[in-house]
Amino acid sequence: MAWKLCKGGRLKFNKKLEHISTYEAGKPIELVVREFGIEAKDIVKLASNENPYGCSIKVQHAVSEILPHMAMYPDDSMMKLKDGLTKRFEIADENLIIGSGSDQVIEFLMHAKASENAKILINSVTFAMYEIYAKHVGAEIIRTASQKHDLDEFYKLYKEENPDIIFLCTPNNPTGDAIDVKEIFAFIEKIDSDTLVVVDGAYMEYAAYKDESKKVTPKELIEKFENVIYLGTFSKAYGLGGMRVGYGIANATIIKELYKLRPPFNITTLSLEAASVALEDKDFVDECIQLNFIEMKRYEKFAKEQKIDIIESYTNFVTLCFENNRNSTEIADTLLRRGMIVRNLSGYGMNAIRVTVGTKEQNDRFFELITELL
Ligand SMILES: *Cc1c(COP(=O)(O)O)cnc(C)c1O
Repeated sequence: MAWKLCKGGRLKFNKKLEHISTYEAGKPIELVVREFGIEAKDIVKLASNENPYGCSIKVQHAVSEILPHMAMYPDDSMMKLKDGLTKRFEIADENLIIGSGSDQVIEFLMHAKASENAKILINSVTFAMYEIYAKHVGAEIIRTASQKHDLDEFYKLYKEENPDIIFLCTPNNPTGDAIDVKEIFAFIEKIDSDTLVVVDGAYMEYAAYKDESKKVTPKELIEKFENVIYLGTFSKAYGLGGMRVGYGIANATIIKELYKLRPPFNITTLSLEAASVALEDKDFVDECIQLNFIEMKRYEKFAKEQKIDIIESYTNFVTLCFENNRNSTEIADTLLRRGMIVRNLSGYGMNAIRVTVGTKEQNDRFFELITELL
């Protein structure tokens, strides 16, 4: 007898899910191997802003040492990592929450602050997860028109719409530009304390290295404002995307609410150890960031030679914008068939691709393929 496939046709789901498109992560190497028959060693993934140099060797050693201890639940107090982070940022325990990626902290804060019909103000082009989590709770998304964070426009919309949450992503993903710290402080100053302002600093380590005037210090933020939360992550500069560790820094009142939403043991033993040790190996991270900007210069030079528009970036990726006679979807697809995975930004309304700055060899390969293609 043939199995009858269940279509689930009579199951009704939460209405809020109807208009959510699933987040499309950068295509995993494994899928490209399967779809195009390219060998894994010939595939270069520059699509998810991972650290191309991997993670600190000290992290690798530390993690392998604790491998025999997997039977026990993780330390749910997260003491070691919390000690590291509170020392690094000169904050107290009560100002900190750790999430399975800063993504999870975004989810917590959305549930904590926004309910049905709440309003969330975001930049026209920005991190896709803000909108997805907003939709989970039935909140309405309000976008600026400007592609760059224009805080005057943010303020105008704030006045008109009175949003519950405002997201400032600096440096911004997927465009790479960053807001001046002075501007951020002047902006929040004008925001009523009932609106939560989120400063997403997923790429802050890069921005801080490149230009001091873009460097947001979470301690200063939370000392000055009671309605702000700063987000950071180990997925980018620290090279721990696979470990899923991020954090939120805010005043104790906000953190206490977020804790109500945190599932127990949301960070694995391995991830806690990896992040704690990664935080201590400052030399490794500094070196990666230095190399990142050396390689980024080559992208800038390449783009100039090829007459491709490039947005000045404070991150570990660059955004290349094409003229109308070129189509970013075609470019990304052609690259993919040759084993080069980049991010097509057509879904963001841009005729552009976002490319993670890789190692010298990876970047050489990218330049070679694009030259061939154009
Ligand atoms: C990568 C990223 C995050 C979070 O990544 P996690 O891996 O969930 O920590 C958050 N915001 C932006 C803008 C990002 O690019």
